[in-house]
Amino acid sequence: MNLETIYESMGISSAVYAYGKKTEEALKERFRAIDENAEYNQLKVLHAMQKCRVSDIHFAGTSGYGYNDLGRDTLEAVYAETFHAEAALVRPQITCGTHALAVALAANLRPGDELLAVSGKPYDTLEEVIGIRPSNGSLAEYGVTYRQVNLLPDDRFDLEGIRAAMNGHTKMVHIQRSKGYQTRRTLSVSEIGKAIDFVKSLNPDVICMVDNCYGEFVERIEPTDAGADLCVGSLIKNPGGGLAPTGGYIVGKNTYVENCAYRLTSPGLGKEVGATMGLMQSFYQGLFLAPTVTAGALKGAVFAANIYEKLGFDVLPDGQESRHDIIQAITFGTPEGVIEFCKGIQAAAPVDSFVEPKPWAMPGYDSDVIMAAGAFVQGSSIELSADGPIKPPYAVYFQGGLTWDHARFGILMSLQKLTEAGIAKLPA
Ligand SMILES: *Cc1c(COP(=O)(O)O)cnc(C)c1O
Repeated sequence: MNLETIYESMGISSAVYAYGKKTEEALKERFRAIDENAEYNQLKVLHAMQKCRVSDIHFAGTSGYGYNDLGRDTLEAVYAETFHAEAALVRPQITCGTHALAVALAANLRPGDELLAVSGKPYDTLEEVIGIRPSNGSLAEYGVTYRQVNLLPDDRFDLEGIRAAMNGHTKMVHIQRSKGYQTRRTLSVSEIGKAIDFVKSLNPDVICMVDNCYGEFVERIEPTDAGADLCVGSLIKNPGGGLAPTGGYIVGKNTYVENCAYRLTSPGLGKEVGATMGLMQSFYQGLFLAPTVTAGALKGAVFAANIYEKLGFDVLPDGQESRHDIIQAITFGTPEGVIEFCKGIQAAAPVDSFVEPKPWAMPGYDSDVIMAAGAFVQGSSIELSADGPIKPPYAVYFQGGLTWDHARFGILMSLQKLTEAGIAKLPA
């Protein structure tokens, strides 16, 4: 069987296949640059592992308190080295990205302090962490106030707005690299660095924290290379490489990371406890694969942008622009567009390909959300996945793909569903 026949037997029409092939041909140069980036980051991770003398003893699990867990302590050294940071906290006890961010905030803010978000409204689930939406146990309940400076209409930092918002209570600045569920540009590490420099020029003691979710290994530098005091993310996104079954990381300045450890476990205990229960090999191996896996996901995002842009849909980032995270937003303008796209991603999955995703109320979100994922790790969004809140502008956020070949197949399947539903029309 030739390739086209295999695709056809798996539900991709010859017209969709041909359109995909043509789109891919035009992306050769982009893909070469993505591969070079992966090569750079692969060497960075490898160097960190060699420098920290990673050995198979580090894959052994601990139980109970987890005292003297060599694997855990060495993994944290590897993360610190990879991110060129003083310290790291990388734990299976950090349940997700939101938790990692909540720990970083609650650990470093005290009653009377103010948190200042300078890249606009933070990711949806943080609204309840901060108390933007009143919530049990929010920072607001503990007397931490909040202020926000939106990005300018062209998605640049509003430096004058930041100057005006900073005051004697400003203790921490929040910057989000990725767009989350918003149709804005993703920020590059270098422009994040410039904003941090500006904040520090006004008050060097303000702690600058970057939500790095989905950004890891997309560029050659990370926010900690550009002056961030704390940089935070999820292990079921890029840095877990698809193998980490849970977890989150916080890297940055020693004092602030220590505070996070005291908050995560307990005052007095900090980093000294936390059993790893046999998960360490997947954390190490996932980090080792992460640069390549991220590159595959990035190719998928660029491919999707080019596929849908030419069919007349709004895509963000567009087909040409440079990338700073692995998210691709596509605006369909109707609930049906979002739903058909997600059906295609689900139908392309290795796991649960036979189920049909439906919009639903999800904890932490203020509208119904549809999520497509047929993942080996529940909710893993470095695996091929798509989600979208069912509210205007009816955009779908697409990400992941453990291999580029799978990402390609998922995008072709989404296009198949959209053409069958008459929502997308292939050029004659
Ligand atoms: C995914 C994400 C989070 C939250 O991570 P979860 O693991 O879903 O809790 C926070 N911020 C951004 C920008 C994200 O993309």
